[in-house]
Amino acid sequence: MNEDDVLECLRAVEDPALGDDIVSLGLVNDLAVEDDHVTLSLALGAPYSPAETDIAARVREELDDAGLDVDLTAAIPDRTSADVLPGVKNVIAVASGKGGVGKSTVAVNLAAGLADRGARVGLFDADIYGPNVPRMVDADDHPQATESETIVPPEKFGMKLMSMAFMVGEDDPVIWRGPMVHKVLTQLVEDVEWGHLDYLVVDLPPGTGDTQLTMLQTVPITGAVVVTTPQDVAVDDARKGLRMFGRHDTTVLGVAENMSTFVCPDCGGEHDIFGSGGGSQFADDNDLPFLGSIPLDPSVRTGSDEGQPVVLDDDNQTGDAFRDLVAETSDMVGIVTRRSVTDD
Ligand code: ADP
Repeated sequence: MNEDDVLECLRAVEDPALGDDIVSLGLVNDLAVEDDHVTLSLALGAPYSPAETDIAARVREELDDAGLDVDLTAAIPDRTSADVLPGVKNVIAVASGKGGVGKSTVAVNLAAGLADRGARVGLFDADIYGPNVPRMVDADDHPQATESETIVPPEKFGMKLMSMAFMVGEDDPVIWRGPMVHKVLTQLVEDVEWGHLDYLVVDLPPGTGDTQLTMLQTVPITGAVVVTTPQDVAVDDARKGLRMFGRHDTTVLGVAENMSTFVCPDCGGEHDIFGSGGGSQFADDNDLPFLGSIPLDPSVRTGSDEGQPVVLDDDNQTGDAFRDLVAETSDMVGIVTRRSVTDD
């Protein structure tokens, strides 16, 4: 078989989300065939996402059926030339219009869930006014300074962590002025040795202030996850967040609804404490994907307070909801990155 034969055979592999086969979409790169050995690079951008894992498996299957063995790598071609965070494949910003909707909880569980699937993950707590990520994962180590004045982030649950809480403590309120916000955030992004990451999850502060602006302007964000409760007022605030992303041409990966149905542990009944369906309606109205809903569940709060993200608990139904959210979100990252290749 030569290169053309192999391409012909790979036309059998569909990209279900983009609605064409991977060869027509231009997702097959650097193809070389030597005897019955094939090397190729697939333009897949979301490591460990279910959809891309399937595509890679289909490629192996087709080549295997053709009696070929394969050396497969995955890379989005021009992402490596970035100046900021060159080793980071994807940056996912987690945002909300207002505080208290569970944005940090979603960020922590998303990051921990991605790491649990096998990805290399960083979690950056950019909520400099109320940093609480270290507590939510019960981080035991602190960042270390190196001789060259860079910062080595501590790790927990397979994630590299950075948070203002490491620098100033969670209980010391810090008054930041605009220029200081910019300086401290760019330092935390640029001076930290994030290394090679598949995903850097950024927990943004609520609302649309200086910090969000700085992050949107300085960090190459792949896409944002907007967290809201089903309640009307939270959805209204989320709408403002959407406008901010629109103004900065930041892709929104989708909407996550938190604190949906409460399943009462005593009576077993389902109660819609903050209303119902607001998040999916909001996603529909704005033509955005709905990434999933997380029930209002006391184990989410106890998990946070004890530093054990629920997504890591295999026997917990809300853990399942978070794992679905992780799968959906990473699949969306994949769609966005593959589309960036096919649009070129
Ligand atoms: P935000 O980052 O939006 O301000 P947090 O993630 O800090 O919100 O969550 C606020 C509080 O609500 C925390 O005590 C958290 O443990 C709790 N919480 C978040 N999501 C849920 C949920 N789905 N069920 C129960 N408690 C939750």
